[in-house]
Amino acid sequence: MSNASPSEPSGQISPWRPLRDLLIRVAIVTILSALAHWRDALTLGFALFLIFTAVWTTIRARYEAAPLPVVHTERAGREARLVKGVGIGMFALPCIAIGTPLLDFASYPVPVGVALAGALLALPTLWLFWRSHADLGRNWSPVLELREGHGLVTHGVYARVRHPMYAAIFAMTLVQFVFLGNWLAGPAGYVAFLLLYLDRIGPEEEMMAKTFGEDWVRYTERTGALFPNLTRGAQNAPT
Ligand code: SAH
Repeated sequence: MSNASPSEPSGQISPWRPLRDLLIRVAIVTILSALAHWRDALTLGFALFLIFTAVWTTIRARYEAAPLPVVHTERAGREARLVKGVGIGMFALPCIAIGTPLLDFASYPVPVGVALAGALLALPTLWLFWRSHADLGRNWSPVLELREGHGLVTHGVYARVRHPMYAAIFAMTLVQFVFLGNWLAGPAGYVAFLLLYLDRIGPEEEMMAKTFGEDWVRYTERTGALFPNLTRGAQNAPT
């Protein structure tokens, strides 16, 4: 295993891909806003949710491009189902709530001040989501996998927290709750991601321990899972 962890994606990506991805996102945001507008249900929270989702999916798409070959996969079927669940909770149900009247029975008004507070909360969550992808670089996978030359990343936002990306996604599901004003579609992202987290975290830490041995054990001693370990900071870390 190498310690190299290139922080930016690279490789052969078609120059048209970012443009195509951007157009797809603009089309989805436009269609859903138009549907909500036509049924007189377009709220500030819905509009902010659509922009927020377009931004985080764009960040993710950048790191999905040109992945390194996978050399080890765990729990493939189970992982695929968990990720699908998160897709339903964080994307499909919100789209249904925004574009159709099907979930209107569970909707409630979100005051403008609350929606704007959600937008403020969204900024640091997007920053953490981006930084965790950038620091993991080409070691990132959406499921439990190891890639060719997989290195243990312990720098950047990984210096004090082992799962900054999961922390970011939890916070993003709270932003979703604030924006949507819907008792079903609002918490759906949080519930789906909580299920994934609780099911995955043990096997993921086991996989990392098996792969990186002592390095992983020392890393766990100076970090927290989702929040920094305040009693043993990164400043005590061996170099
Ligand atoms: N749990 C991490 C990473 C999520 S992505 C976080 O929340 O930030 C999941 C993949 O990242 C796993 O399949 C594993 O291969 C990889 N991974 C997790 N932690 C890592 C680390 N510290 N260094 C390198 N790869 C890591």
